[in-house]
Amino acid sequence: MSEPLVIPCPHCNGLNRIPAERLGDSPKCGRCKSAVILAKPFDLGQGAYASQIKGDLPLLVDVWAEWCGPCKSFAPIFQQAATQLSGRCRLAKLDSEANQQLAGQLGIRSIPSLILFRNGREVARQSGAFPLPQLVAWLTSQGI
Ligand SMILES: [Zn+2]
Repeated sequence: MSEPLVIPCPHCNGLNRIPAERLGDSPKCGRCKSAVILAKPFDLGQGAYASQIKGDLPLLVDVWAEWCGPCKSFAPIFQQAATQLSGRCRLAKLDSEANQQLAGQLGIRSIPSLILFRNGREVARQSGAFPLPQLVAWLTSQGI
């Protein structure tokens, strides 16, 4: 048996301990009973940020805005990446308009911006939209 992974629930921010070999079994949150592992991006806001960047499963955040054309065309690619990387990386979308304070705190200068967090720390960042194979290749180079 391996050490369980600590994974925040995308719904209630509760921390779950899940053995790596159970990640594919649709594990449920111990607190709110919702699915902990999603195959799609979830919305990240100021209140959930500190909880969601924690844990053993990396978190990739797409910083976007409603008025941004490239952000909109990147959305389906980000969605596909979430499906492809389910169980290996968690994907979240941060609306920079609705969360201006957090976007400022993260030093966002252009959107879309992608920020990768692992164990509560930023480990990599990219600006601009790119095709799915390139996105996956970048994440692979980060050990995902
Ligand atoms: Zn929960």
